[in-house]
Amino acid sequence: MLSDQELLRYSRQILLAQVDIDGQLRLKQSKALVVGVGGLGSPVALYLAAAGVGELHLADFDTVDLTNLQRQIIHDSDSVGLAKVDSAIKRLQAINPEITLVAHRQALDEDSLAAAVAAVDLVLDCSDNFTTREAVNAACVAARTPLVSGAAIRLEGQLSVFDPRRDDSPCYHCLYGHGSEAELTCSEAGVIGPLVGLVGSLQALEALKLLAGFGEPLVGRLLLIDALTTRMRELRVKRDPGCAVCGNRHG
Ligand SMILES: [Zn+2]
Repeated sequence: MLSDQELLRYSRQILLAQVDIDGQLRLKQSKALVVGVGGLGSPVALYLAAAGVGELHLADFDTVDLTNLQRQIIHDSDSVGLAKVDSAIKRLQAINPEITLVAHRQALDEDSLAAAVAAVDLVLDCSDNFTTREAVNAACVAARTPLVSGAAIRLEGQLSVFDPRRDDSPCYHCLYGHGSEAELTCSEAGVIGPLVGLVGSLQALEALKLLAGFGEPLVGRLLLIDALTTRMRELRVKRDPGCAVCGNRHG
């Protein structure tokens, strides 16, 4: 059930036929894990909390640094030195006291990551490095949990959704298993703030669609965003039958 306060708080999205009361209830009953509360994780956590996703799990072992504030808009100057997860939770509680927030302040190893993924319905990868992305993907494939993956570096952004519940869906490793410049991070290569905001907002949008059950998710499609020209391209991406992570999966 939704309280009168909740009906008011979420009224502008409940007005949408695609969401309605049923979709809002599905959001309330949903649990999502946000891996990384930085540039991508900031808009993701802010929008999912504001939209009423019932349980938001936040994972980040880092503390807020002054160099983060140019793009990590969930944190503020008073939060410098605090654990990112604690800084984020303070802000999210102020935005929406109706939801439950769960903190993972330690780095997740294979077992704790598997447990963290098993506890939720959907995962958003907002991390900044290839090793974490591969580990999160493997855990999502094993648990058959949908993964909304975003990345932004310099002036380029990428977005896709991997849904191991679907036989036709590739996984992160199908696409990126061969490397490329994935090891570069924003702290080394630089990035512009609104671009991570854009990619993170699109991640939040895809998550709300999957959790509330409307629209067409970005599965089997890779969205490429060029901030220099404000152009977006879409590539079809196929599942790799020989993929070391999802290749032996049986439908
Ligand atoms: Zn794969």
